[in-house]
Amino acid sequence: MPILDTTLPAPKQALDDLAFFGGRPAFPEPLHVGRPNIGNREKFLTRVNDTLDRKWLTNDGRYVIQFEKRLAELTGVKHCLAMCNATIALEIVIRALGLKGQVILPSFTFIATAHVLQWQDITPVFCDIDPRTHTIDPEKVEALITPETTGILAVNLWGWHCDIAALEEIARRRGLKLLFDSAHALGCSYKDRMIGGFGDAEVFSFHATKFVNSLEGGAVLTNDDELARKTRLMRNFGFVAYDQVASIGTNGKMSEVSAAMGLTNLESIDEFIAINRRNHKQYAAELAGLKGITVLSNDDQKKRNYQYVVLEIDAAETIVSRDELMQILYRENILARRYFYPGCHRMAPYNSYLSSLSLPQTEKVSERVLSLPTGTSISPADISTICGVIRMVVNNGREVSAKLRSQAATST
Ligand SMILES: *Cc1c(COP(=O)(O)O)cnc(C)c1O
Repeated sequence: MPILDTTLPAPKQALDDLAFFGGRPAFPEPLHVGRPNIGNREKFLTRVNDTLDRKWLTNDGRYVIQFEKRLAELTGVKHCLAMCNATIALEIVIRALGLKGQVILPSFTFIATAHVLQWQDITPVFCDIDPRTHTIDPEKVEALITPETTGILAVNLWGWHCDIAALEEIARRRGLKLLFDSAHALGCSYKDRMIGGFGDAEVFSFHATKFVNSLEGGAVLTNDDELARKTRLMRNFGFVAYDQVASIGTNGKMSEVSAAMGLTNLESIDEFIAINRRNHKQYAAELAGLKGITVLSNDDQKKRNYQYVVLEIDAAETIVSRDELMQILYRENILARRYFYPGCHRMAPYNSYLSSLSLPQTEKVSERVLSLPTGTSISPADISTICGVIRMVVNNGREVSAKLRSQAATST
């Protein structure tokens, strides 16, 4: 019989119990942000076996068609086109929409939102965010519109929604296309309607880390028949029939195994939401009242997937900085992530020509946020342990900060 159960977290009583100061890590194995949510394994494997039996691996196979149908039903959108990933899905729909010149987007997002424009020689014009919603600030969009502007690419970050009504109004009045990067927002709503059907089109991601994964995958959703037709052609090299090509295209197709995974996981979304929601509530309860720490929420949404647990850290209150807290958590094997620091405009290649661009809210928010592990692989006991570490650090901010400084001084 083992005397020490190394699978159990080590309780921390004193600051010296923190791994950063020589204690045993709270977790023997790393806890990641974005471990995949995996639905019914048997159903998935049955579908994979069926795919192998029928020898139809891609090109509008049974599971791709079913997956698209389910997504269209779930979101109430007319057309859904599954793709190999969201980046290619964005690239294709950007091309199908005829975007060129300049497109306005937030900088506080995953780098792909900017790259999909630059990749096609469209200039990304970065707009600041509303610090309350972490999404593009419509009041700042208008000042960025030039004769070169053809569209707005807004991001429903964390599964929260942008001020969609305001963006729709600007796009309509100024004759711009409106596209949403809704990579995070499957299963979320805006004013009684599911995200997926707003603007000219929306794009979901089914990457392994996303709320619903298809291993890798993405989808374009639109209510516009003509846009759907063009997008569908571009997804498959422009083929309209055997030996007949009608337009330029690329290969954005989703495979049957991916669709089987996506379909299977889609069948479990109520369970994923329930677990994510439970995790979110527990984090909020266990960190409530901690000075300088806020667990972000978005209460006006009817439907949410709760896929992200995001802290905002006010270092003036916590004394320990966001980055210091992150380093301390890392040593405990809690691999918290500072998504989406430092903002796209401060990353290559954009920082090379935008060195003077200042987006004060983006910069401030990106220096305060920390995403914590959640999802189906994180248990309530794990969350208690994580919150215990955070509470210990923040409640002893001054002392931790002094210890960090003296440790840094002796190691140099
Ligand atoms: C994940 C993500 C993407 C890219 O999705 P892939 O399916 O990995 O290509 C795009 N935008 C945002 C906001 C994302 O988080």
